[in-house]
Amino acid sequence: MTDIKKERGFATNTIHKGSYKDGFGSLGLPIYQTSTFIFDNAEQGGRRFALEEGGYIYSRLGNPTNNALEEKLAALEGAEAAVSTSSGMGAITSSIWPFIKAGDHILACKTLYGCTFAFLNEIKKFNVDVDFIDMTDINELKKSVKDNTRIIYLETPANPTLDIIDIKAVANLAKQNSSDTLVIVDNTFATPYLQNPLKLGADIVVHSATKYLNGHGDVVAGFSAGSKELMTQVRFVGQKDFTGSVLSAHDAFLIFRGMKTLEVRMKKHVENAKKIVEALKGNKNIEKIYYPGLSDFKNHDIAKKQMKDFGAMIAFEVKGGIESGRIVMNNVKLCSLAVSLGDCETLIEHPASMTHSTYTEEELKEAGIAPGLIRLSVGLEDSEDIIEDLLQALDKIK
Ligand SMILES: *Cc1c(COP(=O)(O)O)cnc(C)c1O
Repeated sequence: MTDIKKERGFATNTIHKGSYKDGFGSLGLPIYQTSTFIFDNAEQGGRRFALEEGGYIYSRLGNPTNNALEEKLAALEGAEAAVSTSSGMGAITSSIWPFIKAGDHILACKTLYGCTFAFLNEIKKFNVDVDFIDMTDINELKKSVKDNTRIIYLETPANPTLDIIDIKAVANLAKQNSSDTLVIVDNTFATPYLQNPLKLGADIVVHSATKYLNGHGDVVAGFSAGSKELMTQVRFVGQKDFTGSVLSAHDAFLIFRGMKTLEVRMKKHVENAKKIVEALKGNKNIEKIYYPGLSDFKNHDIAKKQMKDFGAMIAFEVKGGIESGRIVMNNVKLCSLAVSLGDCETLIEHPASMTHSTYTEEELKEAGIAPGLIRLSVGLEDSEDIIEDLLQALDKIK
């Protein structure tokens, strides 16, 4: 493995961390397409299972291609260790199961990725108490935290309303509550380029690598990162025994490759997003724009403080609710009508009927997800072309 003594820059790390020399001088990461690994003798097999000796056993417990990728992600998040998973949901569930038992309490922010919301509701049947609260107001959290709160779970910016939560304030509050309270942050929308939750005091950061980390819309994958101790639990209890959510070596290779261009892509995504927000501002058919970079957006100052820039996810409400929203989605020509995000292509979707359809009407209201809200994942096309496409579709609203 490359041994970098001096702290190098983010872009350098996206390219070089995790890379290593194989016997042939291969520049690309070798794909270890194998389920199992041969031991030299029975004693060695025993030592490996007892974790007395490093080395590989079976690909559900570790694979050289995946480990190279995990080393890169850990470096970018400033973590001791990372675990790759076969989806973002695999990372989230593998990072929660090991740390909870019946009688525990989980506090989650009220606006969450739809399947995370569904999972946190499902686990209530195991007598785990879960409350969804507005964490954009730290006083709400102060009021809701309990002695048995084991996990505080949040997304910032949140999917799809871009809610901004003060990670440092949440982490401080958790530490005051109990040394047992873990703060888990879903950093999918920001990426490690724009925000590092662990450096702000969070215990575990989770990602859907399907999105910006891979960046090319062709793989489903995820990550969890944190201390060695916590990641040992996530890997050997959460992933090995609970979820079995293992990333294939081939997909690990694709994410490893995609992440090399993370910084240049993020810069262009953000630059495009800012231009689009400017172009949509004041549009006669738009009721409200949700973007943390707007100076009047709630917690804009916190976003400014904890993020390097404001990201490239935008949401907007059109006048005339869902009917007008449908007109926009059915009339765009360049933007693709699809869920997911962080791809080269600009993607447009309707949270209430798509990504957040796991919420009831009442829950959508509670979470601040308006029926006419449209979510836009700004791609890497020329900003003028995206703007022209959106404006002509908005013009179709009578
Ligand atoms: C997509 C997404 C997930 C789930 O990730 P998958 O890779 O689809 O399992 C979790 N959190 C956020 C914020 C997401 O956008």
